[in-house]
Amino acid sequence: MTIYDITLTISPALPVWPGDPAVKLEQVASMARGDTANVTRLELGAHTGTHVDAPHHFLNDGRTVEALPLEVLTGPCYVVQLPDAVEAITAEVLVRTPIPNGVERILFGTRNSHGWAQNEQEFQPDFVAITEDGAEWLTGHGVKLVGVDYLSVAPFHQSTATHRVLLLAGVVILEGVNLAQIPRGFYQLYCLPLKLLGSDGAPARVILVR
Ligand SMILES: [Zn+2]
Repeated sequence: MTIYDITLTISPALPVWPGDPAVKLEQVASMARGDTANVTRLELGAHTGTHVDAPHHFLNDGRTVEALPLEVLTGPCYVVQLPDAVEAITAEVLVRTPIPNGVERILFGTRNSHGWAQNEQEFQPDFVAITEDGAEWLTGHGVKLVGVDYLSVAPFHQSTATHRVLLLAGVVILEGVNLAQIPRGFYQLYCLPLKLLGSDGAPARVILVR
């Protein structure tokens, strides 16, 4: 059995979405300073690093993250590796990409993952993402979970349409996975977002097992 950790390491060096809170990991008790234990305080946005979006992120009456179904967050998953020349995951790109029939969970590796492999710390506004018609292709093909390798499933400045198509169809969105070392093919996905009451998203530890 091989376990692939596709989770980004949360630290102040991780790029965050423009306007979202910066990551702070603050030591509030320190054995080096004479405390009996070390304790860290977290300060971060719900959409930090590797995370899931709940429907409530773009649908005000949509369900929140603690209610996402674990049956969707875990199970067989197909990883696609798109060529570096792909600038956007459109319906046209999906039509000519070999994707096995009946795939319910799919992760897209793109040139975005090169940045994670190189510990890129600047936000990259020209990241590869899924267009509205790409999202419609996915919902039309029965996909229940879709993952991308940058901080949003949708192109920068065009967030709403792609998110709404997916979330209205009940698709779980996983963002910010690092697929730099993951060959194309089938895996078992374990995606476990923090159980945050009433939140629009949550950081997740995500692994692929083969
Ligand atoms: Zn998000």
